[in-house]
Amino acid sequence: MAIEVRTGLPGPKAKEYLEKSRLYEPRCMSEQVGLVWKRAKGVRVEDVDGNEFLDFCSGVLVANIGHCHPRYVAEMQAQCAELFNCYDFVNPWRVALAEKLVKITSPGLTKAFILTTGSETIEAALKLARRYSTGYEVLAFDGSFHGRTYGAMTAGGKLGVKKGFGPLVPGFIHAPFPYCYRCPFGKEVGDCGLHCLEHLDWVVETRSTGELCAVITESYQGGAGSIVPPPGYMEGLYGWAKDKGLVFILDEVQSSFGRTGKMFAYEHWGIEPDLLCLGKGISSGVPCSALVGREEIMGVLGPGEMSSTNGGNPLSCRAAVTAIKIVEEEKLAANAARQGKRMMAALNGMKGKFRGLGDIRGMGLAIGLEMVEDKKSKEPSARLAKAVIQEAWKRGLAMIAPIGFYGNVIRIAPPLVINDGEVDEGLGIVEEALKACD
Ligand code: PMP
Repeated sequence: MAIEVRTGLPGPKAKEYLEKSRLYEPRCMSEQVGLVWKRAKGVRVEDVDGNEFLDFCSGVLVANIGHCHPRYVAEMQAQCAELFNCYDFVNPWRVALAEKLVKITSPGLTKAFILTTGSETIEAALKLARRYSTGYEVLAFDGSFHGRTYGAMTAGGKLGVKKGFGPLVPGFIHAPFPYCYRCPFGKEVGDCGLHCLEHLDWVVETRSTGELCAVITESYQGGAGSIVPPPGYMEGLYGWAKDKGLVFILDEVQSSFGRTGKMFAYEHWGIEPDLLCLGKGISSGVPCSALVGREEIMGVLGPGEMSSTNGGNPLSCRAAVTAIKIVEEEKLAANAARQGKRMMAALNGMKGKFRGLGDIRGMGLAIGLEMVEDKKSKEPSARLAKAVIQEAWKRGLAMIAPIGFYGNVIRIAPPLVINDGEVDEGLGIVEEALKACD
């Protein structure tokens, strides 16, 4: 498949689906360009009108192994003829996935609990941390996104997710996250002595009831706008939490399975979370998630205290086992690191050419472009971000709607199987789209 846009966009069939969607579905989902997906292979997507696009979003950072990888499809087809669900009865694929996760995560993590969505892993982690500890309070971060169920939403640090849904779960406090492009303390990068770390004691002193039990953080903040913590921050946060005897919950729902250039983002920092939340790329499509954790924490619950109807079903587990094998065998983490570096270099080269390209940041193939009205004022430009994505779509590039505090961050996150030519092709379209909107 090559990029080929044959119809006006959206095409006639897409228009019909979009109209029906408006008629029968609520408007609560994120608003995307009018690309109605029909099928996809590798990094190429075909819409219902036969137009062909390059995928720069992996769904939403899900399809790490590329769409419909032939081995994955064969394994799924085989499983469909065998078994879909057997509830909490043991099945070989659930055990295989748990074993695999324990073996590939850091040595202290010895148990893996298989679930279905990212949010579920957050809820499970919060419950386990509370049961395990004497305290109950959880420190989370401004800007964070952990999902939309109540505990996950409460841990989240953005109005958009919580608006009108109060009262939330009691027992959460929040601290500023190092959003260096717009430092919450007005400091300059490299000259701040990681003030946000020093500030943690102040947050506890002023907001806690003295019953802190856990810290929960994303590795990089996705929903807040691909905000990557500066060097030394994660190590410092981890050390701070350990000194206080807190359970360290790391939300890697988005950043795992090769996405950041390592199998898990925590490997960049040499830290070992106590509870690790995994989702999205774990299975590259068929819904699956997992909470991997330390023996003593995962062991606090007895039989019947936590499980779910679809968690650990053989189809999802086989999908995850297969996807992880593909990530390993095709060395997709290394490819993400290499292509991510190439992309960052090319994008940094474009920065000077476009007034609105304010900041470029990323880890591996999770890259964010923060759009502004002009570089000096840094006034966020949601308008420009939206327009660039629209222009890119017209030229055959699939990107998701902007995110971030101000809705002005464009995400670039292709499947990790992307090659040099495809990266260059996609970035060429990004550049054209930027030019069209400048
Ligand atoms: N945590 C993070 C970091 C996420 O990015 C997401 C999903 N975008 C979630 C949790 C929630 O995952 P899910 O939508 O599968 O519940």
